[in-house]
Amino acid sequence: MAAPLRPAASALGRLLRARAGAPAGGGSRWPRRGFAAWSDGQYQHFRGRGPGLRTARGPAVALVGGGVAAASGLYYVTHLETVPFSKRRHFIVTSVRQERQMGDHTYRQVLQQHRGRVLPAGHPAARAVARVGQRLAREAGDLAAWGGQVEHMRGLRWTFTVIDSPELNAFVLPGGHVCVFTGLLKLFRTDDELATIVAHEVAHVVARHGAEKVSTGQAVAFAKLLLYSLFDFSFGPVFSLALELPNSRTMELEADALGLQLMAKACFNPRVAPGVFERLGEANRGARPPEYLSTHPSDQGRSAALRRQLPEALWVYEAAGCEGLAAFFRR
Ligand SMILES: [Zn+2]
Repeated sequence: MAAPLRPAASALGRLLRARAGAPAGGGSRWPRRGFAAWSDGQYQHFRGRGPGLRTARGPAVALVGGGVAAASGLYYVTHLETVPFSKRRHFIVTSVRQERQMGDHTYRQVLQQHRGRVLPAGHPAARAVARVGQRLAREAGDLAAWGGQVEHMRGLRWTFTVIDSPELNAFVLPGGHVCVFTGLLKLFRTDDELATIVAHEVAHVVARHGAEKVSTGQAVAFAKLLLYSLFDFSFGPVFSLALELPNSRTMELEADALGLQLMAKACFNPRVAPGVFERLGEANRGARPPEYLSTHPSDQGRSAALRRQLPEALWVYEAAGCEGLAAFFRR
C-alpha cells in the first residue's frame, strides 16, 4: 500500500526537508526516526531518538506539519454527518451523486462479471429477494423519525439481484444495488430469515457506509503521506490495524443494529435475526481469520449484540402493528 505513495511522499518530504534546511536527498543531516532503519548498511532495531524535529530546524517542520494538521482537522469536522438511528458521526466527502455513480458503475461490472449466472426476475429465488427487499426499501425511504442524515435516501432506484453461485455471500453497492448469492440463500427458509440478510445490506445504504469507506480511505492515504513525509517511515500496517479494520467492524455492527430495527419496522419478525447469524457462523466455521485481522466482527459477537438489541426491535415491531389483532387489520 505504501509503494504508490512513495514518489509523492518523497516529493512532499523533500519540500518539508528543504523548508527545514536539510539536504533534499536525505543523509546524515536528516536523521531517520522510527522503530528500525537502514543506516550505513546496517539494520538497527529501535534506534535511539536522534535530534530529529528537536533540532534548530525542527520548529519549521513542526510549524508546517502543525498548519497542515490544523487545516485537516477543520476540513474533517466540517465534513461530519450523523448516521440515522445510531447517531454516530462519520466523515463523508463523497457527494450523493458521486456515490450513486460509483455504485451504478460497479453494478454494471458485477453483472458483466457474473454474466449467465444472474437469475431472471421471474425465478422464485429472485422473486423472493425482490419481494422482501422492496418491502425493506419502502421502510428505509421513510426514516425521518430516526434522525440523522436521510436526504441521500430520496429517489433511490433499488435493485435486488440473485447470482447463482455457491458463495456464502451478499453485498450492496452505493445507490441501492443489493446482490445475494444462491449459496447464502440456501441456508434460509423463511422471509423473516431472508429479511435479516437483506435488511443488513439495506442498512449499509441508510448509513452511507460505501461513501464513508471511500472518504476514510482518502483521509488515511493523506495522513500516511503526511506522516511518511515528516518521519520517513511507512505507517501503512499500523493504520490498517489501528483504524481501518476496527472502522469496518463498526460499520458491520451498525448495519446489523440498523437492519434489525428496519426489519421490525417492515413487519419481519426480528426474533429470528440472532439465530440467522449463528447459522452463518456455523456455515463459515474455519474460513474466518481472527477477529482483530478481519473486517467483520465474529458471528457470535454479532448475534450476542442482536440479542441485546432485540427488546427495542420488538417494541418497534409491535408499535408498527405487526402482531395480534392489529396485524390482522394491517393486511
Ligand atoms: Zn455488511
